[in-house]
Amino acid sequence: MGGNPVGADGPSLAVADEVLKTIANEHRLFILMTLGDACTAGRYATLRFTDIWEGTELEDSGRLNYHLQQLVDTDYVASVEDGYHLTLRGLKAYQAVKAGFYAKELEIPPFELEPTHDVCGEHLHASYRDQRVSIECPSCDDQLHQYPVPPGPFDADAVPEVAEAMNVRFTTDLLSMSQGFCPYCSGPAELDVGHEHFDSLDIEGWNVPALLFWCTHCHWFMLSTMERPLLFEPPVVAFFAERGVNVWETPGWSDVFAAEDTVRSTDPLEVELTFSCAGDTIDVVVDGSLDVLHTETRHG
Ligand SMILES: [Zn+2]
Ligand SMILES: [Zn+2]
Repeated sequence: MGGNPVGADGPSLAVADEVLKTIANEHRLFILMTLGDACTAGRYATLRFTDIWEGTELEDSGRLNYHLQQLVDTDYVASVEDGYHLTLRGLKAYQAVKAGFYAKELEIPPFELEPTHDVCGEHLHASYRDQRVSIECPSCDDQLHQYPVPPGPFDADAVPEVAEAMNVRFTTDLLSMSQGFCPYCSGPAELDVGHEHFDSLDIEGWNVPALLFWCTHCHWFMLSTMERPLLFEPPVVAFFAERGVNVWETPGWSDVFAAEDTVRSTDPLEVELTFSCAGDTIDVVVDGSLDVLHTETRHG
């Protein structure tokens, strides 16, 4: 790895070090939060020096000037004719604090969800811990799903919003990864298909292998069963839509999406997933790259 792209051994690490040190300071963080909180829908806020000064606990304006200049020099804040506003870098730092990555400890004990487990028919439960939502079946003692969602906007009463937020987060991240780009660093995402990935998923009963998407740049990864990304293939979206199910609004763990799975060939890999809805079925045949080879809808 060289200096650019960003790596652990390049000159860019020294740049990141300097830039991150700038905001490891309560007064500068306060300035970032003040500028961020002043933003309105669709607009960056520009605040005058005196507006920022009023909110701080700094005793002289020279100190505020010093801290603002540090933020301008490291490109968190832009100095313009009528004041100061966040740059994109400043907004990202503001968002990281608002998201609660660094501060908020939130735990939500298991609560019941509307969807039931397709294996046993019992209602699924969701819980929140360590910045992750888990979807579990208490009867089978299976963890069906787990994915991070930042705690920032939520409190312990935020049920079931936290589960909905996780579903949307997972869906959009999976879509991004399956299109080849990491949603966090824009790095290339690769797909690995294998039965061993079920070891991390804590679920059983699948014949076809599980999916691991991983970013070769920042190493973000996502595990998924095979039917989940196929829900967003146009023939499958249409199959469900024609039967009153919007795949974008229905949680991925809903039993509506339970699929039967068949391995048609192992070398090269070719598998068939069959979704059922309103008495009809759709077979989706994919290869080891998740390219759809064939679909067929059967009525009744
Ligand atoms: Zn169950
Ligand atoms: Zn990445």
